[in-house]
Amino acid sequence: MRTPWHAPSIRLRLTGWYAAALSLLLVVYATATFVAVRHEFLEQLDDQLQDDYTAAEGLLTRTPSSRVAWTGDRHHDAENVIDVWSANGEQIYRSAASTALPAVALTAGTIQARYDSIVANGHRWRTLTGTSVVGGTAVVLRASRSEDRLGNQLWEILVVLVLGLPVVVVLAGFGGYVLARRALAPIDHLASEARRITADRLHERLSVPNPNDEIGRRAAVINETFARLESSFDQLRRFTADASHELRTPLAVIRGTGEVALAQAHTVAECKEAMGSMLEDVDRLTGLVDTLLRLSHGDAGTIRLAREAHNLGELVKEVTASLVILAEEKGQKLNINVSDDVYVIVDRLVLREAVSNIVDNAIKYSRRAVTIDVRVQSRDNHAVVEIVDEGPGIPAEHRQRIFDRFFRVDQARSRESGGTGLGLAIAKWAVEANGGQIEVEDVPTGGSVFRITLPLRTPATASRHINSHERVGGGHL
Ligand code: ADP
Repeated sequence: MRTPWHAPSIRLRLTGWYAAALSLLLVVYATATFVAVRHEFLEQLDDQLQDDYTAAEGLLTRTPSSRVAWTGDRHHDAENVIDVWSANGEQIYRSAASTALPAVALTAGTIQARYDSIVANGHRWRTLTGTSVVGGTAVVLRASRSEDRLGNQLWEILVVLVLGLPVVVVLAGFGGYVLARRALAPIDHLASEARRITADRLHERLSVPNPNDEIGRRAAVINETFARLESSFDQLRRFTADASHELRTPLAVIRGTGEVALAQAHTVAECKEAMGSMLEDVDRLTGLVDTLLRLSHGDAGTIRLAREAHNLGELVKEVTASLVILAEEKGQKLNINVSDDVYVIVDRLVLREAVSNIVDNAIKYSRRAVTIDVRVQSRDNHAVVEIVDEGPGIPAEHRQRIFDRFFRVDQARSRESGGTGLGLAIAKWAVEANGGQIEVEDVPTGGSVFRITLPLRTPATASRHINSHERVGGGHL
C-alpha cells in the first residue's frame, strides 16, 4: 500500500518559497553587479590606455634624418607595453621586449583609434591602436595593457558572489524559518485552545490578545462561531428537554386514567369512558409527535413546497371560515377585511397553517364577546396579513421568544386550552419558507397584532402561473 503523501508544513513551505525567491533575486542582483563592475573595470583600463597612448605620443619626435624616434626612457613594465611602427612596418619602439604581442597588421592610410582585446601567449591584452603624425610623419602607435590583473580582480569578485550567495540564502532561510515559526505560533496556540473547548465547555472562548491583528480577527470569528454553536446547543438541549416534558405529561395522564379504570371501573360504560379519555390523550400525543416531526423535516430542509400564485384574500377567507365556529363558541366576532387583488406566490397549505395558527390563538387567548380583525392589503410592494385581537397581548420581554418552540407566556393557561407551544414556531417556519416575515406588536388599546409580510406578486409574473416545487431549508425554528 502506498503511504499517503503529507504536504510539508506551512512553516516549511513559507521558508522554501522565501529561500527560492531570495535566491532568484540574489542571482539577478549578483549578475547585474558583476556585469556593472566588469564594465567599469574595462572602462578604467581603456582610460589608462588612452593616457598611455597620449603620453607615448608626447615622447615621439622627429629626428633630423626625417625619422621618428622615441625620446623617453625605456620602461620595462611587462603589463604596460607601448609599440610604435613606422608607416612601412618597421618597429620604431617596443617598451617590453619580452611580450609576445603580435604586430599590428598595417594597412594603407591611417588607422582609426580603436580598442581591441587580444590573446597572446595565453594572456589577454587590451590594446588601443591608432595612427599618429609626428612632425608630418605618420606612425602607428599601440598602447597595450595586460588584462591579467583585471581578470584576477573579477575572478575574486565572482568567487565572493558565488560562494557568498548560498551562505546568504541558507542564513536567510534559517531566519525565515524562525520568523515563520514565531508568526505561526499564535495559530498553534489558537488550535490547542480550540481543542480544549468541547461540547460541555462551549461557554469558553479563545483568548484574543490583540483583537486588531490578523490572528485576533480570526480568533474573534472563531469565537463568534462558538457563540452560535453554544446557542444552538442550548436550543437543542432546551428543545429535547421540553419535548420530553411535553410527551411525558399526556403519557402520565393516559397511564393514570388506565390505572384508575383498572382499579375502579366495574361497568362497561365506565371502561368505555376511560378508554375514550385515553384515546383523546393519545390523539393529542399523536398530534404533538406529528408536529415535532414536521418541524424536524423543516429543519432538515426535506419539506417540498408547491408554490403557486394565490389570491391572499381568498386564502385568508378560507382559513377564517373554518375557524369561525370556534369564535362563535366564545361569542367573538371575526371581522374580515380583505383586498381582493393581493396575489402572492406561496404553498397554499403551508401558508394556510400559519394563518390558521395565528387566528386560532387570537380566538383562544381573547376574552369572550370581543372582535378579532383579520386584514389583507398590499403595502409598499408587499402583501400584508394582519390579525388584530383584544387579548392579553404579549409582554415586551417575551416578544422575542414567542416564536420559539414550546415557549408559552402562561404555561398553565396555554396547556389547559390544549396548546402545545408549537403553533407560532410552525407559523414562523411556514411564513419564512414562503419568503415572508412574521412579527408581533402590541395594540395600544390592549391585545396584539400579528403581521405576516409576503412578497407581492409583481405584474411581470402576473400572467405566469408559477408552479415550482422547491425544497425549503429549516429557517429558525
Ligand atoms: P400554544 O399552543 O401554547 O398556543 P403558540 O406557539 O401558538 O403555542 O403560542 C405560544 C404562546 O404565545 C402561547 O402559549 C401564548 O402564551 C402566547 N400567545 C400566542 N398568541 C397569542 C395572542 N394572540 N395573544 C396573547 N398571547 C398569545
